[in-house]
Amino acid sequence: MWLLCLFGTVALVSCSRGTDAQPKAFFESQPLTRTTPPTPPEAPAPDSAPLPHIDAKRAFQYTREVTAFGPRYMGSENHKKLEHYILDHLKGDQVEDDAFIADTVEGKFPVRNIIAKFPGTKDGIIAILGHYDTNYPLRNIGYVGANDGGSSTAILLEYANQLRGKKRDGYSVWLIWTDGEEAVRKWSDTDSLYGARHLAEKWEKDGTLKKIKALMVMDMIGDADLDIDRNTIGTPWLLDLIYAAAERLGYQSHFYAREGPIEDDHLPFVKRGVPSADVIDLDYGYNNVFHHTAQDTMDKLSPKSLEIVGDTILETIHMLDQR
Ligand SMILES: [Zn+2]
Repeated sequence: MWLLCLFGTVALVSCSRGTDAQPKAFFESQPLTRTTPPTPPEAPAPDSAPLPHIDAKRAFQYTREVTAFGPRYMGSENHKKLEHYILDHLKGDQVEDDAFIADTVEGKFPVRNIIAKFPGTKDGIIAILGHYDTNYPLRNIGYVGANDGGSSTAILLEYANQLRGKKRDGYSVWLIWTDGEEAVRKWSDTDSLYGARHLAEKWEKDGTLKKIKALMVMDMIGDADLDIDRNTIGTPWLLDLIYAAAERLGYQSHFYAREGPIEDDHLPFVKRGVPSADVIDLDYGYNNVFHHTAQDTMDKLSPKSLEIVGDTILETIHMLDQR
């Protein structure tokens, strides 16, 4: 398994770790590098709309509760409990399931994407994805995925709170808790992104993909030391729009210090031409040392980081509505 060890102008060093657990895959040939902040040509002029604010304390509490379930790998009891936890928080919302059986190198697993739809006045969909599963290969090491799986589940629950109860004056927003993002053995095209691949295929067939104006994935967004990477697997104008939203909120120093390709749940949608961006901080602890280890725990996270990402993406949605 490959993790990048150093970035920037310093020579790149790669390090291998003797475990079957796989990260979001990097392409070894295209390391993350330091960037100069983009000047988005397509960013709309500043408007006078009020700045969005999520309830970061509540989002942090969700992260704590999700993490407290323990390991939540596909097929586990804890996974079932978390499904019910998510659904309990979506009572009264328009909820859909995308459930199927994945045939993997470790056997068959039930996979369940949970979709909550919040209708808007404008024709088109903004899709926000975040995975809620933890890694099957890490099931016996006390791995709880506070940041990787926990933060993404929680931020979507908080978005649901923000969207609920009013018809949006803009695009419809769909929140998707994806399942089976993690590999069951070793990250590859066929062993990863089970839920997202299934959903992308389904939405291609039923015509939904054509209606998606923008798709954004939230992943590992709770690190107290927040550095969102510019994931170059993605749509440049959307990446720039997210940066412009962060700038409007004064959060730009937490975005795009590094850039490089990272495979994540957005990949099957990128491949099908959907405007997509992955909002991820893959620098979790020095040299990403906490990623996919038993050290991925609540004490590394901060409500402020959830607030930075939460508010920035809500502002991005607002900017998308204006386009
Ligand atoms: Zn992971």
